[in-house]
Amino acid sequence: MTHLYALTAHAAHALLARKEISARELLDAVYARIDAVDGAVHSYVLLMREAAYAAADAVDARLAAGEAIGPLDGIPLALKDILCTTGVRTTCCSRILENFIPPYDAAVVERLRAAGVIPVGKTNMDEFAMGSSTENSAFGPSHNPWDLARVPGGSSGGSASAMGADEALIAIGTDTGGSIRQPAAYCGVVGLKPTYGRVSRYGLIAFASSLDQIGPITKDVRDAALVMNAIAGPDPRDSTCLPEPAPDCTALLGRDITGMRVGVPRELFSQEGVTVAPGVEAAVRAAIALLERLGAVVEECSLPHARFSLPTYYIIAPAEASSNLARYDGVEFGYRAPGARDTVTMMTDTRDQGFGAEVKRRIMLGTYALSSGFYDAFYLKASQVRTLIRRDFEQAFETFDVLVSPTAPTVAFPLGAKVDDPIQMYLNDICTIPINMAGIPAISVPCGDDRGLPVGLHLMAAHWQEPKLLQVAHAYEQAAGWTRKAVEEAGRVTIAG
Ligand code: GLN
Repeated sequence: MTHLYALTAHAAHALLARKEISARELLDAVYARIDAVDGAVHSYVLLMREAAYAAADAVDARLAAGEAIGPLDGIPLALKDILCTTGVRTTCCSRILENFIPPYDAAVVERLRAAGVIPVGKTNMDEFAMGSSTENSAFGPSHNPWDLARVPGGSSGGSASAMGADEALIAIGTDTGGSIRQPAAYCGVVGLKPTYGRVSRYGLIAFASSLDQIGPITKDVRDAALVMNAIAGPDPRDSTCLPEPAPDCTALLGRDITGMRVGVPRELFSQEGVTVAPGVEAAVRAAIALLERLGAVVEECSLPHARFSLPTYYIIAPAEASSNLARYDGVEFGYRAPGARDTVTMMTDTRDQGFGAEVKRRIMLGTYALSSGFYDAFYLKASQVRTLIRRDFEQAFETFDVLVSPTAPTVAFPLGAKVDDPIQMYLNDICTIPINMAGIPAISVPCGDDRGLPVGLHLMAAHWQEPKLLQVAHAYEQAAGWTRKAVEEAGRVTIAG
């Protein structure tokens, strides 16, 4: 018998709708699971029990009154601690926001609450979403539920480990260069980065505003589609949000993919300085062969400028970050250094004590790139290269419906293995960063394992094509039988409890 905490949202919904379980029972199961395993996994930095039970009781009251419930009513959610929550501490896992209590909900949180979703807690992350392992969290790292000595990936590592360890039914992450997809791959779950502009960023604490997107991390593809239906759509409070209504992301699930054109960009399989691990490549090639057996037409292709994505990203993202993070000066938000003699010392002490090493590194890189005399050489040039990268994708999508690659070049690495070498850490993202540069949607789906650790299949589609992307991901998932159970049999470490 499957434990309630291990259910997908759509399976739990069926039980709730038939009144075989109550929202309170489901929530009890999730908190019991958190109590049993989170000491080891550390997915959460804060729990919201009281509000969660009040919300669950409200759903149960509606059920008792004979009201029909929506697909996400009563579903427990793990929420990345980068999204503002009214009256609930929102830290971005930084000392500088350690005591920040927002007076409003992010748009995504508003919408999820309106859909009846129950946030159970805020999840761990790399400070200000800068990182690929959660080791940059000011509150200590999360651990990979498959092997507690390894990282869960990042920056949305807590949301992904919460899914991998069944500490909620659905999760929300954010992705600026891979932070939804890479941790989803490392934890053996599904992660979708929507098209830039598909989901409102209102109330999302900004890292690099032209790249940041919010999206679901879930246990299967159908759940990702259901979460998208709840969070996507126009919002006048985010000027980059597409004004047209979002399509139904479940619309194409279950349709067969015969004749679908699948491109395999060779630059996402090998690049100077990075090799995709043989076990990862084998799993991804096997997945591509399966897509072919399902009727897809597979062909190799090229994204000639993709190899410039990493250097371009490390100009644009730090430049935007240095500007966005200028607001943390000890005056309006969060931490203020004590004992300063004057305003300038107060500000410098606050920033010195409040930010971690990686955040400081990015602020310095970004400030340098934007400084007078260097702007044209760095930021302007990077913006031009970014256009070339986007055009490569646009051209590829004239021929192909979707593109495929590994999500990350390796499986989850041991904690501590890359903390002293930022370049090695950055190289984790060679397959995911080009997608943020282009603004297109992409998803990571489990596609087997490399010596017992999950591998992610990375599928990409043209702007606004989430329904088609989810269709292909779903067809693959159903045919592969890489449900989490199957990956689990390949060797998940059993967490006590
Ligand atoms: N790992 C990348 C970085 O450190 C991407 C992070 C993200 O997507 N938020 O910037």
